[in-house]
Amino acid sequence: MNSNRKPIIAGNWKMYKTAAEALALINGLKGELVGVRDSDVEAVVCPPFTALYAVSTLLQGSSIQLGSQNVHWEKEGAFTGEIAASMLKELGVRYAIVGHSERRQFFGETNEGVNKRARAALASGIRPIVCVGEMLAQREAGQTEAVVRDHVTDGLAGFTKDAMLETVIAYEPVWAIGTGKTATPTQAQEVHAFIRELLAAMFDSSTADKVRIQYGGSVKAANAKELLGQADIDGALVGGVSLDAKGFIKAAL
Ligand code: PEP
Repeated sequence: MNSNRKPIIAGNWKMYKTAAEALALINGLKGELVGVRDSDVEAVVCPPFTALYAVSTLLQGSSIQLGSQNVHWEKEGAFTGEIAASMLKELGVRYAIVGHSERRQFFGETNEGVNKRARAALASGIRPIVCVGEMLAQREAGQTEAVVRDHVTDGLAGFTKDAMLETVIAYEPVWAIGTGKTATPTQAQEVHAFIRELLAAMFDSSTADKVRIQYGGSVKAANAKELLGQADIDGALVGGVSLDAKGFIKAAL
């Protein structure tokens, strides 16, 4: 954490919560946030597409921001099952997760697709949260930096400095997602510092210093403080725990 970068905690609800359940969770979150200063942390929720409209309505006037779990790169067209950035923007979506490891693993998303999705989000004024991170076998084979380098350089290829400043990176070691295994603060900090060095080489050090890099992977109240206390960790992308209002807020604050 660095005082120049406002921490951002985003809840990735994955394929959980109907619209009605989503509203109940938002009401719970709003209750937990009473009395918390807006400036301390930026909180984002990323419900399934089907709940975005309902959640957007309930979030009006709240400091909680709305995010989506993906976005397509085309403006519109014959792309069954996909959602365009303009459709998300209309609902008040401010952030879009792209390149989540579950999208890469189960739906064949590539760095090139991630790049196109992130650019489309930016073109519509939506900030992409670009997920990067190695699988267990890759870490064990000493390939963490090589994998993360590819995700970062290819995923952010062609970005201007201004685009980069609107972008959030989420470092999520795949072996820590939904497994209860968290990277140690030292392991996470090492990769975050490496990502910041990559950004300095791709852009410049002033840009790299301003980009927020979240950690994701089994973040919960018990480990969040220590992780977020690391110099280059600027927030968290939270999965499982974000489905519970108290748990999410405890991990976030
Ligand atoms: C995630 O889905 O991005 C994630 C980090 O999940 P979890 O917190 O459940 O590990």
